Amino acid sequence: MSIKKEIARRRTFGIISHPDAGKTTLTEKLLLFGGAIQEAGAVKSNKIKKGATSDFMEIERQRGISVATSVLAFEYNGTKINILDTPGHKDFAEDTFRTLTAVDSVIVVIDVAKGVEEQTEKLVQVCRMRKIPMIVFVNKLDREGKDAFELLDEIEQKLDLHVTPLSFPIGMGYDFKGIYNIWEKNVNLFSGDSRKNIEETIEIEDLNSEELDTLIGNESAETLREELELVTGVYPDFDQEAYSKAEQQPVFFGSALNNFGVRELLDCFISIAPPPRPKESEERVVKPEEKDFTGFVFKIHANMDPKHRDRLAFVKIVSGVFERNTPYLHVRNGKKLKFSSPNAFFAERKEIVDISYPGDIVGLHDTGNFKIGDTLTQGEEIHYKGIPSFSPEHFRYINNADPLKSKQLAKGIDQLMDEGVAQLFTLELNGRKVIGTVGALQYEVIQYRLEHEYGAKCTYEPLSVHKACWVEPKDPKSEEFKDFLRVKQRFMAKDKRGQLVFLADSPFTLQVTQQKYPNVKLHFVSEFK
Ligand code: GDP
Repeated sequence: MSIKKEIARRRTFGIISHPDAGKTTLTEKLLLFGGAIQEAGAVKSNKIKKGATSDFMEIERQRGISVATSVLAFEYNGTKINILDTPGHKDFAEDTFRTLTAVDSVIVVIDVAKGVEEQTEKLVQVCRMRKIPMIVFVNKLDREGKDAFELLDEIEQKLDLHVTPLSFPIGMGYDFKGIYNIWEKNVNLFSGDSRKNIEETIEIEDLNSEELDTLIGNESAETLREELELVTGVYPDFDQEAYSKAEQQPVFFGSALNNFGVRELLDCFISIAPPPRPKESEERVVKPEEKDFTGFVFKIHANMDPKHRDRLAFVKIVSGVFERNTPYLHVRNGKKLKFSSPNAFFAERKEIVDISYPGDIVGLHDTGNFKIGDTLTQGEEIHYKGIPSFSPEHFRYINNADPLKSKQLAKGIDQLMDEGVAQLFTLELNGRKVIGTVGALQYEVIQYRLEHEYGAKCTYEPLSVHKACWVEPKDPKSEEFKDFLRVKQRFMAKDKRGQLVFLADSPFTLQVTQQKYPNVKLHFVSEFK
């Protein structure tokens, strides 16, 4: 098969949702359709169990699962599908943000009863900013939930999206009869039997035919006709281009648990979702069909065996073909590297692959060469953009608790930060190290891993920081900037890349500082150019 055909048949995407909306269940049903797994229950939830905060076995369990579910690849009707796992737990939100740099589209799962929840809002905001095409799946229709129109309104308002339903529920909860598939123009009746894999669909050529009344009863048929009329009146037709540009989001309804409405979603997804897209680098836009291989690291995973400190770097292939045992340029450090056992990931196993195409993810064994965001090429000096750090929510000083192990501690911190577990800031004034995280759970993970993988001990000390702000002076030589640096000396730090950061201790300080120094821009994301 030509590289063009290989690219055209690939779909690399992520499923995002608030925890418990049904992401794991949906993933599993998609894998069942692809024949990648044989039975339900094979996909482990990557959730942190409640109350497991200090249970280190739980953290290890979670890490094990997260390697296994990082990428799930399968074939469906001639399409190669790569699902990238995105942790739903808010303490791992950074990881999800980074994974979103490697997807070509997403499916957003929403619980019909709970509607739009907090984590969905945050993740969709990132997708909107990055113009990632989105399909919405409203789940759990077998339960009582919000009215479909009300929910569509809520999705538009809270998520700032422009939706168009491609399926519509017939009843809900106890009364749930099935869905009308607007996309395929057929009716799908719900039997409520979760063991059934593929449900029956009934073609309906004309909504006004009596067949519909016979199928779902007069009353339901009338209601459905009225509702569909309203849908046509209120929502625009599906527009492929608008969807691809993230200007329109199709919506499907169903019940993942009952495997209902999932095939419809999948069939529509493979026909409309974009194949691997061109990617911007600092130097130029790189197209997937280019001859030369390029790719970038979006995730690093530490080996589960603490005695071997090797790691797996997950590389998304952007262009060309990636081949085993071929030297590639690691652009940041100028080294040529060869990989003898690149891994591809399937539902229940990983395999060594000889060749991979744009859209695919390969896992490369790494002994410490890679950082998140690194680019690999066939020789060209290309730097892919766009794996920003966000301001952490929590900040603590990290101290060495075993003076004989300071080297191990430094190395451990260095590598854990490369993995993206947390962010390190070094204070300008005294060189003290501050760890910033999205969730408090991360501190325990770091402490535990430093001890078990690096033999180093650390303690934390509280530090009151509201936000880390990346500093961009209009004129670095101006008196205003010099004054800013002098007055804020105690709060200035460098991040791991050496960028200057101001640690604002309260919302009030932040506001006053912004007013006092209008020509010193403060950003909450590390990338702003
Ligand atoms: P995740 O946190 O988003 O991965 O959610 P899960 O897939 O683990 O689902 C959370 C809970 O909702 C589980 O108990 C599922 O069995 C349940 N669930 C998922 N889909 C449905 C559905 O369509 N209907 C009902 N009633 N429950 C569902």
